[in-house]
Amino acid sequence: MPDHPDIVQEPSEEPREGTLAWLQQQPHLDVQGLSVPNVHRIVDGSTLAPLDDNPGTCRVIRPNEAGRCRAPATRRYGICIGHAGGGMRDYAGAAQKAHAAKARLRVRRQLLGIGPARVGNPRQHARLQALERAEALAEALVSAPLDDASLGTIERQIAVVRALDATFPLQQTSVELEVPADPGEVAGMGWQAMQQLAARLTST
Ligand SMILES: [Zn+2]
Repeated sequence: MPDHPDIVQEPSEEPREGTLAWLQQQPHLDVQGLSVPNVHRIVDGSTLAPLDDNPGTCRVIRPNEAGRCRAPATRRYGICIGHAGGGMRDYAGAAQKAHAAKARLRVRRQLLGIGPARVGNPRQHARLQALERAEALAEALVSAPLDDASLGTIERQIAVVRALDATFPLQQTSVELEVPADPGEVAGMGWQAMQQLAARLTST
């Protein structure tokens, strides 16, 4: 609907990187008779399928056994947006980031002996979050009171004692652990049960 009154054209706005509009703004060069953006991803040795051969599909035929690209072709280039140099970069980055975040969370959970999100009690979730913001916590606990010029000597001392307490506690703790008496049962303990046991030892 090109004449829709509600749509305000903003010609000054740059198209987002990786979009077709952005690709068309890039300098173009010739690859086997096809004019493509200079950021294209057609690797050396690739060939292009004839225009009339399955025109809805990307024309790029890769040199290895992967063969012809199966992605849908853009009408503008006859090759897919990925081979034209667009899209993928951002998506791949985002997916990788999401994957890394998930992996990080998994490692933390294992570290704390906490099962998947739906299991675990509020304290365990709080510990996960504390780990997530570990640097901020440490900063608030240790550096902030020392750097706060508005605090008096006594207040600062109290803060230091608290920080020491939290980081190098003097108190003794007693820990109660339920370990199966029968060695056979220990062998039967699941990985998670072991992790939780270990977490209780290290966290107290
Ligand atoms: Zn392609």
